[in-house]
Amino acid sequence: MVFGFGKKRGPSAADQLASGKWKCASCDEWHGWPFDLAAYAPDPWPHEKAYEQNSDLRLEGDFLSEDFCVLSGKHFMVRAILPVPVIGVSGDFAFGCWSTLSETNFDKYIEGFDAGEYADAPHWTGWLMNRIADFVPGPEPLGVIVQPQPGRQRLLLWVQDEGHPLAIAQSEGITAERMLEVFAHYGHAPA
Ligand SMILES: [Zn+2]
Repeated sequence: MVFGFGKKRGPSAADQLASGKWKCASCDEWHGWPFDLAAYAPDPWPHEKAYEQNSDLRLEGDFLSEDFCVLSGKHFMVRAILPVPVIGVSGDFAFGCWSTLSETNFDKYIEGFDAGEYADAPHWTGWLMNRIADFVPGPEPLGVIVQPQPGRQRLLLWVQDEGHPLAIAQSEGITAERMLEVFAHYGHAPA
């Protein structure tokens, strides 16, 4: 039984997460907290997973770097962070994932990228480009607020539809047990 923490004596799931003493069943390593997961590329990325340099950004054809993605010279995507608090554990879980931006906002993001300065603290909108465990299991488009951060920190994503399970997770937090289920979904189940 993988998720039996609540029924066993010993440390709770929250304790395990917070203590950094969480032995992974699949990679045979000890994981700590925060333990963040990241999608290498937007799910529709059709090529092998290899980054070019940000400075080599091309707005035509297909391009992928650590922070930017362009598909067919028409679709513009950025690497962002989708935070989810875990109840009883300090420090949010952060899922590294990708969102679309309009070409106008993509240009603005690139303009401010090196300085990490975005006038008027904009709230852009986009579409989430990665499935996230069973929060976003299918390809249905999910609208997000895309919020640039100062000082070269990654953009933050907030699910727009307040009734969506992932939006509720972002506003109310998830339990440590649920967090471990998400890690298990990605092959990092506690041993
Ligand atoms: Zn692992």
